[in-house]
Amino acid sequence: MRERKPFVGGNWKMNTNRTTSADLTRGVVDALAPVTGAETAIFPPFPYLLAVRSILRDRGSSIRLGAQDCYHKPDGAFTGEVSLDMLKDCGVEIVLAGHSERRHVIGENDEIVNTKLKAIVDAGLTAVLCIGETLDQRESGHTDPVNQRQLRAGLADVSADAMERVIIAYEPVWAIGTGKTATPEDAQDVHGKLRKLLGQVYNADVARRTRIIYGGSVKGANAEELFRQPDIDGGLIGGASLKAPEFAQIVKGAAASAKA
Ligand code: PEP
Repeated sequence: MRERKPFVGGNWKMNTNRTTSADLTRGVVDALAPVTGAETAIFPPFPYLLAVRSILRDRGSSIRLGAQDCYHKPDGAFTGEVSLDMLKDCGVEIVLAGHSERRHVIGENDEIVNTKLKAIVDAGLTAVLCIGETLDQRESGHTDPVNQRQLRAGLADVSADAMERVIIAYEPVWAIGTGKTATPEDAQDVHGKLRKLLGQVYNADVARRTRIIYGGSVKGANAEELFRQPDIDGGLIGGASLKAPEFAQIVKGAAASAKA
């Protein structure tokens, strides 16, 4: 049995509405009711967090509630932003930092990602640090340096103790929402190198305990093979998390990989 419990997150991005977010939550709860062996979280859009939380609570579900982003400052004059206190008040336990769409569409850099990540762990929540190379970077042979830079920069000034509340998501940008997935071997190669780097930046214990999950067009059909790789501890799922049966199949694949 693996010592790192697999983690699967469903990132709904800017999708769903009041009705479909509630339907999807109920569908995921029902489909996952018999599944233990993997920790699961869903990341709905901000406006639906409270309604999703009510459903999770009413059903006694162990699925954790996540947020797709946050602002690092305490409550104050920051029009349009959402603080960590607000997210905690809504029952959020996990927050994404540095998702590729925030880096490449919204324009967040490593420094902003690091500031958010530190605020998330300082607030006592779990942070999912997303990193990954673009297609250009991969094709020009820069996959490893890019991921190593984003890992080091994202974790700057984060203590070894705080790493208990950090999950790393390796998400090659060229695989997100494109239907292209890294092969299990290519993904394992990057994950293994990232774990080695955690050992250098922190220590062997942090390297052994930190979950490194994969994201990029994961589906029910390819999940288990990816998650069976020794350094892949689950997944961050976009498109396929919007279909309850598909998402459940992915979580089942993660749970099965835990027994490998
Ligand atoms: C993501 O949003 O983090 C993601 C991996 O998306 P998709 O599964 O759709 O590629």
